[in-house]
Amino acid sequence: MARIFCIANQKGGVGKTTTTVNLAAGLARLGQRVLMIDLDPQGNATMGSGVDKRQLEMTVYDVLLESASVAEARVKPERLVEGGCAYDVLGANRELAGAEVEMVSLDRREKRLRTALAAVGAEYDFVLIDCPPSLSLLTLNGLCAAHGVIVPMQCEYFALEGLTDLVNTIKQVHANLNKNLQIIGLLRVMFDPRITLQQQVSDQLKAHFGEKVFDTVIPRNVRLAEAPSYGLPGVVFDASAKGSQAFISFAEEMIQKMPPAQPASAVAPEPPEAPAVLPVTAAPVEVEQK
Ligand code: ADP
Ligand code: MG
Repeated sequence: MARIFCIANQKGGVGKTTTTVNLAAGLARLGQRVLMIDLDPQGNATMGSGVDKRQLEMTVYDVLLESASVAEARVKPERLVEGGCAYDVLGANRELAGAEVEMVSLDRREKRLRTALAAVGAEYDFVLIDCPPSLSLLTLNGLCAAHGVIVPMQCEYFALEGLTDLVNTIKQVHANLNKNLQIIGLLRVMFDPRITLQQQVSDQLKAHFGEKVFDTVIPRNVRLAEAPSYGLPGVVFDASAKGSQAFISFAEEMIQKMPPAQPASAVAPEPPEAPAVLPVTAAPVEVEQK
């Protein structure tokens, strides 16, 4: 059964999409069956996986509004197949921005993605969800569908500030909507060891979050930044680049740390209760339960 992870951080430009597409490509390169879901109306993960978002007939929008199944809306990008890192893509485009408003009046509005994924969970080893830079209903759908959250962050002073809001949201979802949800780990990205402040923040992260900080560190690397303009993940565009090599190492770390989910707790619409494994625990905060 698939292990389902959200790549989330409510800040923009912190490396969520780069992490999602390169981890997907890295896992695919290592022989894993991967589905990448773009939950951001900007559609960057879609374009960065070799899919033209303007040409898509069906997207994750149709899945959330239940006018298409995941199996109908996903695509297998030819360019990824050619690059030897084939993964499936459930794409997004501007249309998805409307879903936020349209879903407000619908029932089970936070659990639509989770329900839709139940039908294809057995076909994949990993499902990776690229979240938008907000704690919105779209992100909530991602968090309700997932077993865990991967948080990419730059080692800068303000990075830690934003983390508190995200951790609180994850705690709320864990307490009220998805007992399986946990923070899988913090991924240090765009790292430059020559900058003293980055080293200091990195050390602080290690001290505060310990095991929850991934061993792999993603360096700042221009090839990773160039790859999207060619419509490819860096891992496919130039596998030998330092940044790509780091993402391949990260894929190896994920495979090693994340044993396959038990079928019973995998993508069933209502998974059984699991113990809380969040790094910080607090009294559950009441949110409206659907
Ligand atoms: P988000 O999805 O969080 O908004 P992106 O993944 O789109 O962030 O990254 C923001 C910008 O930083 C993009 O232009 C991307 O190419 C660039 N970028 C991301 N990671 C790296 C890296 N490790 N080295 C260099 N540039 C990077
Ligand atoms: Mg993004």
